[in-house]
Amino acid sequence: MVSVEEATQIIHSKLLKTSRVAIEFTQAVGRVLAEDIVADRDLPPFDRATMDGVAVSSASLSQHSTLLIQSVQAAGEPQQTLVSHAHCIEIMTGAMLPKGTDTIIPYEQVEIKDGTATLPAGVKIERGQNIHPQGADARKGEKVMKAGIRISPAEVALFASVGKNDVSVMAWPKVAIISTGNELVDVTATPLPHQIRKSNSYALQAALKSIGCPSTVMHLPDDKPTLELALRELVTQQDVIILSGGVSKGKYDFVPQVLATIGIEKHIHQVAQKPGKPFWFGSKGNTFVFGLPGNPVSTYLCYYRYILPWLWHSLGAQTPDQKAILAEDFMFKPPLTCFLQAAIKNENGRWMAYPCAGGGSGDFANLVKADGFLELPNHGIHFKKGDVFSWISFRPIHHLI
Ligand code: AMP
Ligand code: MG
Repeated sequence: MVSVEEATQIIHSKLLKTSRVAIEFTQAVGRVLAEDIVADRDLPPFDRATMDGVAVSSASLSQHSTLLIQSVQAAGEPQQTLVSHAHCIEIMTGAMLPKGTDTIIPYEQVEIKDGTATLPAGVKIERGQNIHPQGADARKGEKVMKAGIRISPAEVALFASVGKNDVSVMAWPKVAIISTGNELVDVTATPLPHQIRKSNSYALQAALKSIGCPSTVMHLPDDKPTLELALRELVTQQDVIILSGGVSKGKYDFVPQVLATIGIEKHIHQVAQKPGKPFWFGSKGNTFVFGLPGNPVSTYLCYYRYILPWLWHSLGAQTPDQKAILAEDFMFKPPLTCFLQAAIKNENGRWMAYPCAGGGSGDFANLVKADGFLELPNHGIHFKKGDVFSWISFRPIHHLI
């Protein structure tokens, strides 16, 4: 048995070798960027008007308070040139600053009448005002995004502005999710008194889907030859195999045995944690196998605590270490690390985690009341209100109620 810290270290030292794929930028949200992105021209590409008004040469303002309107410079038009200091050019937001002008006075501050623009006395003008200067945001050739970031709508906007139609992103690995257990029946079945409906595989598939990663779901019985036959083939086809159930000490928990038979090297079996103690992890070549205990809360915890960060890490992305504050005293006896289900609330800028332990690792109905797990380390019994611990979130912030 290893500690949670050791398990984490082992898992992160055995990363999946991943590949890149080029996709259209409109499809890239949620993916991990696999290339640095540079600006193909200055941003903004020209001195850009940020307000509607008149473009003037600031030098002329000491001599003239009324200027002749020469023309209108609209957005999308080539740059015009001011003919003299006695003139100004009406300008629209987004237009190129005309040659010979250096300042924009908004319409609100000038009086337009009979082809002239008059500056009322007392209006304070600063040279260069209301202009977004060329290259102020980024210079041509400058790196505007680094490989390894997770693409959000902001990055999509930037891809568009720098003309990046095809973007190199990390390819999703091929993931198979396999539930095991003779007691499990399909969602649409009417279970007999001794049966239950499968739920773990769907939770795992939904969790992967929520980050955009596709997966296939299947079921295998607690039968050694069947497990062996199926897993032998799956290992040759998949990058990641996530099993649920069959890794504990029961008479029908054949998964570790079968995985050994087919040559999967075991890296971890059993972690000093609650829930999820029987957790199993191994690999063969570039195929990685996670054997999660079948109790639904254990399955859930092991996915969010180990598999998800491992997946991001394998794809070259980092996962921030999140923390939350224990909102009530809590007692838990070592030597296990306790992953405490909790509901999170932002109170005046502080993330407070309210324990809602539920009825144990089989009580998956409780997960809908919680937002994540607070990681209480395996030293100490009395965990005090106000103390800060690692927070493993399974509900995105925008889904909190
Ligand atoms: P196991 O790890 O196989 O001993 O399973 C532990 C408990 O989790 C048993 O009560 C199983 O019925 C339950 N369980 C296992 N797999 C699933 C699943 N896919 N969906 C829901 N419950 C499961
Ligand atoms: Mg089982």
